Order: sequence, then structure tokens, then C-alpha cells
Amino acid sequence: MKYNMLRATLILITVFLILFMTTHVVRADALPLKAMLVTGQNNHNWQLSHPILKTIIEDTGMFQVDIALTPPEGGDMSTFTPVFADYSVVILDYTGDRWPDTTRQAFLDYVRGGGGVVVYHAADNAFPDWPEFNELIGLGGWGNRTEKHGPYVFWRDGELVRDTRPGPGGAHGKQHQFVVKHRVIDHPVTRGLPETWLHEKDELYHHLRGPAENMTLLATAWSAPETGGSGEHEPVLFTIAYGEGRVFHTVLGHAGDDPPPAMQCVGFIVTLQRGTEWAATGTVTQPVPEDFPMAEQVRLRPHFKQSEPKTPLEGQARGCASNKRSARE
Ligand SMILES: [Zn+2]
Repeated sequence: MKYNMLRATLILITVFLILFMTTHVVRADALPLKAMLVTGQNNHNWQLSHPILKTIIEDTGMFQVDIALTPPEGGDMSTFTPVFADYSVVILDYTGDRWPDTTRQAFLDYVRGGGGVVVYHAADNAFPDWPEFNELIGLGGWGNRTEKHGPYVFWRDGELVRDTRPGPGGAHGKQHQFVVKHRVIDHPVTRGLPETWLHEKDELYHHLRGPAENMTLLATAWSAPETGGSGEHEPVLFTIAYGEGRVFHTVLGHAGDDPPPAMQCVGFIVTLQRGTEWAATGTVTQPVPEDFPMAEQVRLRPHFKQSEPKTPLEGQARGCASNKRSARE
């Protein structure tokens, strides 16, 4: 009797296991594109940002995001050997210890061979002394970057200007809401989106420096002197062609407060989603969502995901949430 019960229990467990594994495998197979998110060290709260990035990218329904975690600062980096070639796109939420030479080379080979890269916010603080990385990201900041790393890039009088005057690379003023202005509107990432939109409170990087070669400046924001800015239209979204590879760089999305308001901004979310698809495939098939912000009003996704189909009631609820937020500031 006891034996029979044990046997029945074992069979039941096996059946459940098989069912679980089958469902799991089928789900993974149904997702067409694989994304690798590199994190594990950062001068920001990467523990906070990386699950949010995963949520945002997977909310497109197009990607499965795997996390490639480096050892902690000062750890044995020789164990960090992710297989970039298995992925359509590599998302960088990392600044920290030097990667092993073999990993560096594998990363460059991956991008030159046609791989996609997304550079997110402080990832452009990384590796100031790795020239190929600076070429790949276009512009970077901090890490004692100077004129030796390349020019400043601004938008002046309707065109991209490279300013070679000496000075440090990388700064930002006080966090604030600011308007993002698209400078190329027929790129797959920006096509169909409102050309100006209000971004939620964020750091606005200024005076980034880098080679800025093969760069398409998709969007800028006015860095106002009143908030400690540069008095220039600063790059916030841009792409770099590196070998056969495509790099999408967003300087937006500072992760400080939990939840980080800049990462709740629909403008940040949607440009990141579209930039990731473009980096992975060279095209963008995602529709323009109804909640994309315009120039006058910030729009948020509190949980970083697109809401269910809208009803008039939900619209009212969103208005309320937005009012509450304004009152808090
Ligand atoms: Zn930041």
C-alpha cells in the first residue's frame, strides 16, 4: 500500500515536471529574438535598473532577455566570457572592471560582424581607455575623458557640430523634466513618433566626448544654464554604424529613486524598445503607442509595461496619477 502511494506520487510529480518543462520550452521557442543584458557593476543602482530594462524590452513581445552578470567589482573577471554571438542584441547596463581580452575581442567581433548593441545611460561611462569601445559608443563621459577622446557634439543651427575645444568629457546639471527634440524623423527608431516630447525628471548629460564617427544624431535636448546645463542642444539619442553592426545609444534613464521616474517615462521606454529592435534587426515593426508623450505633458508607465486596452475609466485614473505626481514635485 505504502509502495503504491509512493509510486503514484512519483508519477504525479513526473507528469507535472514534464508539463512544466514543455510549457517553458514552447514559450522560449515562441520568442524570436534573443537579447543579452550585461550588468553586475555600475556607478548606478544596476540592481534596480536591470530588471526594469528586462521588463521594458520583453514587453515588446519580441525578445527574450538573458542577464549576463559580471563578477562584482574587484572579482575575477576572467570568468566573464558570455557568448555574444548567440544573441541578436547586447544591451549594456555596465560600467566597471576591465573585461578579459578574449571577451573584449569577442564583443568587437560580434559587433563588426553585424551584431546589435544598446548603450544605456551610464554604460557610456565605461572603458575610457578602450579606443574601440569609444568608437562603438560614439560619445562617452567621465573617466577622465578629455579632448584626446574626441570632440564635443552639439546641435547648432540645424546641424550636427563637432567642437574640438579642450575640456573634460561628461557632466550633468540638476535633474529636471526636459523636452526631447527629434532631429532625424525618417529613421526607423523615430519614424511616426511625435517630434518633440516632454521627458520625465532625469539627468541630462552634457559635454560628452568621443570619436562620434558614423553617427546619426536622432534626438537632442536643450541643456539649460538655469539647471546647471551647457547652454547647448545636447545629444540624447543617436546611432553608430560600427563595422556591419548597429549601435543605439540612449543617454536617458537615470536609475536613482525606486522606482526611477526617468525609466517610467513612455518616451524613454518606447525609444529604448524601438532602438533595441532596430539594433537587433535594422528595422522597427513596433506600432506607435497611444500613450506616447507630446511636448506639453509627461506620460508614465508606473510599472514600465504597456497598460491593458484603454477604457474611459483608465484614462481618468491615469490623469489622476499624473496630477498626484505634479503635486509631489
Ligand atoms: Zn545617472
